[in-house]
Amino acid sequence: MKITDVECHVLLAPNYNPAFTSSAQDSFLVLIHTDEGLTGIGESDVNPWIAKACIEAPGTHTMGMCVKDMLIGADPGDIASLWRRLYLGTAMNGRRGAVVHALGAVEMALWDLRGKAADRPVCDLLGVVRPDPVIPYASLQPAGDRFEEYRDALCASAERAKSLGFRAIKSEVTMNGPYAHNNLHESYDRHTEVVAAVRETIGPDMTLMVDVQYLWQDAATALSVVRDWAEFDLFFLETPIWPDYLAEYAKLAEAAPMPIAAGEWLATRYEFEDLMDRGHIGVAQPDVGRVGGLNEARAVCDMALERNLTIVPHCWKTGVSISATAHMAFVTPHCAFIEYLPPELCEETLRRELVAEELSLIDGTIARPTKPGLGIELNWDAVKRYKVA
Ligand SMILES: [Mg+2]
Repeated sequence: MKITDVECHVLLAPNYNPAFTSSAQDSFLVLIHTDEGLTGIGESDVNPWIAKACIEAPGTHTMGMCVKDMLIGADPGDIASLWRRLYLGTAMNGRRGAVVHALGAVEMALWDLRGKAADRPVCDLLGVVRPDPVIPYASLQPAGDRFEEYRDALCASAERAKSLGFRAIKSEVTMNGPYAHNNLHESYDRHTEVVAAVRETIGPDMTLMVDVQYLWQDAATALSVVRDWAEFDLFFLETPIWPDYLAEYAKLAEAAPMPIAAGEWLATRYEFEDLMDRGHIGVAQPDVGRVGGLNEARAVCDMALERNLTIVPHCWKTGVSISATAHMAFVTPHCAFIEYLPPELCEETLRRELVAEELSLIDGTIARPTKPGLGIELNWDAVKRYKVA
């Protein structure tokens, strides 16, 4: 089999709001076509115009080659060595950041292709499939531009997630800092108040995670607030500190009354090595697309296992990425949950419309995939409507 064409689609929901802290309003979609008539589909969580340029920009020298040119004519079957060629050939443009995030969509599409060619689900080809189901956690979004609205919206959607059968939820609690919702600027006490309200709403038995989205710059300030959060029984506290300050992560991880989670933005296993060994996190959150694809994400899972860490992948995207994440989770016994944006609870048009995925929730769990490849069907009408480049 040979690759005959690579299509990059920049999708944008017409109702997108640039002030909204959600990267699921756009999508970068890669389609890889072959001479055998099969097409692989991949996606990544990265500015889609930049990602398209990362794949299509002409090459001018040996360390700055064109990804699309390298792919056309290649055998898509040996995914690891093809990815390595792309990684080396773009070394002066990439190695980290947007180029690796874009390569993640390519690599995901190669896995979809391989599964379709073998007529088997991707998880069967990735490794030993675990016997127990994968458990998605509902990732909840806030609303409103006043404290009370923010708190009440999170409690209402937590209640809704519980009624939909979810066993776990994650609440954003970000009313300050660089990721603050709607430019809110509330005190840290009010952050504690929201966590308390959400825990009270769902009761003691449901798993609760909290994402404060880089709220603090240092461990001492973070600790002054979260030291008293033990009573909320959090499964983890996500990205409490700006990602460059790994020494502060280590200090916080040592003293905090809950595990610290991070990694959603990282590219390659090498960035995770730093996060784990210098930042001393307890939960690693690779995003399959951003980290560079399924092989790179699995390398991160292996590193986590060696260090006795839990995996809870990041995924704030459409059914393409969610499916890839679920396939990875099925071969990762130490993956406790996967992030899941419930279509019933989210605003994002692309999440709701772009893909018909195989994964459905039964009693709050996802059953083992059975369809070939990633097991997804694109809604071509939505692709056409939302394609802007
Ligand atoms: Mg997050």
